[in-house]
Formats: sequence, C-alpha cells, structure tokens
Amino acid sequence: MALEARLDCPDLPSLAAHIGDCHRCPLGDTRTKLVFGVGDPHAELMFIGEAPGKNEDLKGEPFVGAAGRFLDELLASIGLTRSQVYIANVLKCRPPGNRDPAAIEIATCTPFLAQQVRLIDPKVIATLGNFATRWLLDTTAGITGLRGKLYHVEGRQVVPIFHPAVALYDPRKRDDLLDDFKRLRAVIDRTGTNPDEGGAPAPPVG
Ligand code: SF4
Repeated sequence: MALEARLDCPDLPSLAAHIGDCHRCPLGDTRTKLVFGVGDPHAELMFIGEAPGKNEDLKGEPFVGAAGRFLDELLASIGLTRSQVYIANVLKCRPPGNRDPAAIEIATCTPFLAQQVRLIDPKVIATLGNFATRWLLDTTAGITGLRGKLYHVEGRQVVPIFHPAVALYDPRKRDDLLDDFKRLRAVIDRTGTNPDEGGAPAPPVG
C-alpha cells in the first residue's frame, strides 16, 4: 500500500528538514526549487497532484500557474479556499519539460509524501489525475475509470478526480471537474469534515 513507508519525522518542519536540498533522484539536479506543499497543516481535506510545472518550479509552491487558478475556482465552487486545505504533489521536483514522472522518481520521492499525509492526517484525500490516484490506490487503472467512486486507504476517504490541467487543454473537461468537486463536497459533508464549518448532508458518491 502506498502509505506504508514511515519516516522518523514527527512534524512537517522536521520532514522538510529531512528532505533538505534533496538529490536522492535525478530531478534534484534539474529543478529550480523543491516544492514541499502548502496549506493548513491540520487540514481535513488534502489534495495530491502530480508534480511541479514550470511556474511551481520557479516559485517553490504547488499549483501557481493557470491550473492553479482553475483549482482556486474549483475550490470556490464548493465554498473553500486554499487556506482551508493542504496541497502537495507525488513528486516534489519538476520533471524536465513537464514529462511524466518516472517510476524510480515516484519510488524515491513518495515516502516523503506518505509521511506528509500521515502528519497532516486528513480525513479526505482528493487525488488529482493518474499519478496521484495510482500511487495512493496502488493500482494501474486510469483516472477516467476511477473517478466518480469513493475509496478508502488507512481509514481515509479517497476521491479520485481529474487533474485541473486537463481542462486547459480540453475545455469540455471543465464541467467534469466541476462535477468531481460537487462529489468531493458531498463526501466532505457526509464525513463531517467541514473546513468551512458549513455545508449540509449530501448524497453518497459512486
Ligand atoms: S523529486 Fe523527490 S526524491 Fe527526487 S530530488 Fe526531488 S525531493 Fe528528492
């Protein structure tokens, strides 16, 4: 299972210190800034994306480009802001040219993410796209077949949804993503996870 690896880091600052100026995989030599993750360290809702892109690599923050602006819009559509959630990626460094993450990079980097999840301890995790979903659910299936259903990993509810970047290339996916976020809101409300202290019971997902 994806979350099995455990590191001796009792909080997020000690995890960041443990990662340090990481060169454990080749991406350490090509990145500009390592992207650790941002948000509420005690968030009950966590998003996991794929890897930093060009803008994220320059700023050291996840989702700061056009996909990030759309993520903000999606969050607003269900009454949330970034400060109420936590956002991280499968990889903490940018693959050159935004290529797909390589298996060895995922294997080397994800013990950090597993510890990050354990420390933040979210009740609900939304995986954005193929790489995050495959990692957390330990599957080779694609996001198109996995989205729209609810999964459980170590007692956490997992909601696979499309990566917001797909809507930048295929505008028809915007409505799919808005639907995905409606489902996410329903899971949050049903779980009693209320980052905004609002919301009402919603129908089950999947
Ligand atoms: S991607 Fe992860 S393992 Fe590779 S250098 Fe960056 S932090 Fe280290």
